[in-house]
Amino acid sequence: MSVTVVGSLNEDVLVAVDRLPGRGQTVIARTATLAPGGKGANQAAAAGLLGPGVHMVGRVGDDPAGARQLAALAASRVNVGRVLRTAGVPTGSATIPVEDGTGENLIVVVPGANARLAPADVDVPSVRDARVLWLQLEVPLATVRAAAERATGTVVLTPAPPQPLPADLLDRVGLLVPNEHELVQLAGAQPADRSAAELVALARAVTPGSVVVTLGGRGALLVPRDGGPALLQEPPPVTAVDTTGAGDCFCGALAQALAAGAGQAGAVRYAVAAAALSTTGPGARGALPDDDAVRTGMS
Ligand code: ATP
Repeated sequence: MSVTVVGSLNEDVLVAVDRLPGRGQTVIARTATLAPGGKGANQAAAAGLLGPGVHMVGRVGDDPAGARQLAALAASRVNVGRVLRTAGVPTGSATIPVEDGTGENLIVVVPGANARLAPADVDVPSVRDARVLWLQLEVPLATVRAAAERATGTVVLTPAPPQPLPADLLDRVGLLVPNEHELVQLAGAQPADRSAAELVALARAVTPGSVVVTLGGRGALLVPRDGGPALLQEPPPVTAVDTTGAGDCFCGALAQALAAGAGQAGAVRYAVAAAALSTTGPGARGALPDDDAVRTGMS
């Protein structure tokens, strides 16, 4: 068992609109498209396509949307044996109007079954025995804490959506992986253009542990726990057409590389290459690379 992801599974409803509605306005969409989503499931799908031994722990409803999420994850080579069907609750969903031309969007999430993932659900071998246990904050915090407590491997947390992190959870986290916006919020700072040195200071203010900050088209910054020098890893050149889900691909790839025994710097290099490739096609899971493509991209 190498990578276990505990987290959310959603059905994304992507709605194409000429312009985003304002408060109280009605707009007519051109199309609506269903796509598998949820931060946890997206991360697991990315990891599954890069290598074997990936397990997902979560909840979906006992509805057609839930069946679609399970099928999509299984098609990405993720073991879904611990994704529980929950009667009487809908599968989580995210409705996402996307404006033509600008690509600007709004996101409304209905947690549905994700909100029912309980501490008892994570008391399972795939959580206890994972080499890398990857967590986010789209399921109840009590469940995230319980999973972190049970893990014997490396615990990694994507702090999204950002919220104050209890000390007992942070103590269990071996690696924190925020994007720049999440790091700024966790540190209680104001949004601003920041140098790498300023981002290192923010990371140190949040935790003494290791941090990897993702920086969009600038790559990712590794701030190691031992106070050693930070490392900025730039992406290989790609033609990015859609960066949706790049962060989740980054996390799935980092998980696989860490589980395979790569050091943090090597794992970040692999994840930056994988995430860059994921931006070359549409959608959160539309252009997830396999291991061969990532290694070719790194050479
Ligand atoms: P999202 O919410 O869109 O999934 P995010 O905000 O969580 O993303 P980002 O920091 O935007 O995360 O991107 C994650 C990683 O994806 C970056 O660290 C980088 O490696 C890669 N990436 C993102 N955008 C680009 C780009 N334009 N070109 C190359 N790589 C990119």
